[in-house]
Amino acid sequence: MPISDARTSSHISTLSDDKRWQAVLAREASCDGQFVFAVRTTGIYCRPSCSSRLARRENVRFFATPLLAERAGFRACKKCHPRSAVRPIHPAVVATCQRIEHSSTPLTLDELAAEVGLTGPHLQRIFRRTLGVSPKQYALAERQQRLHQQLEAGASILDAMHASGARSTSQIYGPKSARSGLSPAERRRQAATTTLATIVAPTWLGSLAIAATERGIVAMELADSAAAAEQLLRKRFPRAAFVPASEQLTRWALLAVASIERPTQSVELPLDVQGTAFQRRVWQELQNIPAGATRTYQQIARAIGQPTAARAVGTACGKNPIAVAVPCHRAVTQSGRITGYRWGKDRKAKLLERESQP
Ligand SMILES: [Zn+2]
Repeated sequence: MPISDARTSSHISTLSDDKRWQAVLAREASCDGQFVFAVRTTGIYCRPSCSSRLARRENVRFFATPLLAERAGFRACKKCHPRSAVRPIHPAVVATCQRIEHSSTPLTLDELAAEVGLTGPHLQRIFRRTLGVSPKQYALAERQQRLHQQLEAGASILDAMHASGARSTSQIYGPKSARSGLSPAERRRQAATTTLATIVAPTWLGSLAIAATERGIVAMELADSAAAAEQLLRKRFPRAAFVPASEQLTRWALLAVASIERPTQSVELPLDVQGTAFQRRVWQELQNIPAGATRTYQQIARAIGQPTAARAVGTACGKNPIAVAVPCHRAVTQSGRITGYRWGKDRKAKLLERESQP
């Protein structure tokens, strides 16, 4: 499953332009994340609920996503930060994810929809809009994940299939087994492969791609586009199998986006990072630096009880896999100059500037 399927933001809103304009007039917060509107005369685009002065209808254009508005040359409004508007998750989507996760046999779209009191097409639409995949694709990824977990735990292939709810290997690998290029037997030999759930969300700092195990987030990458952010994840985990976001990861992603939107408000994100003992101590210490403050590499070295290791601290900061939530951007050189940042010096400067404002 390509990770681009897990995108949250790339789906076309089904609202007509007239309905969109009504939503803008009403400053409808429930429409935030469904589309943005751009104003020709100012060159700025906003989320529907923006409190700025209203533009005239003839100067307004609508775009399904912030990215499309930017491609057309509009800049994000500094007041309403339209890039960070995230769709609220529909309760039916959450319920359907749970139903799929707990079912031992495949369910049809109509069966799933009936359980949440919707029609099949309606459920399909909101499910896709939220998670970027259909319930069927979600269930397939879910079964694959279960199968892989079983195989990694050393179960026999037949046991694993049974536990994952598949009736035959073809149900999981099917005629498209070439997609992964691995048979279950090969998969079992390759038990070192990790399965990671991924999601991409727009933020004011760029596209945020998150990868997670069920224990926690393993990486958060920032880039100018969703595709570039996903590419960073692929480079970081070249052997991982990527599956669409679970409901759990979707919730973590909402928290991560909120923490980027308001860095001064601390949120609890479960992390599942891999690193040496030294790196982990540095990353831990970074999380003790409050928003609005910075520490030199030297100060961090002292804080972890290795006063001569300032250079190694710098290197460990550079290896930090979790953008923003493990705030390596708050680590600076003695001179206070903004130096290298994995996700771009420019982003580091913007983050520090935003955090210094009360
Ligand atoms: Zn605005």
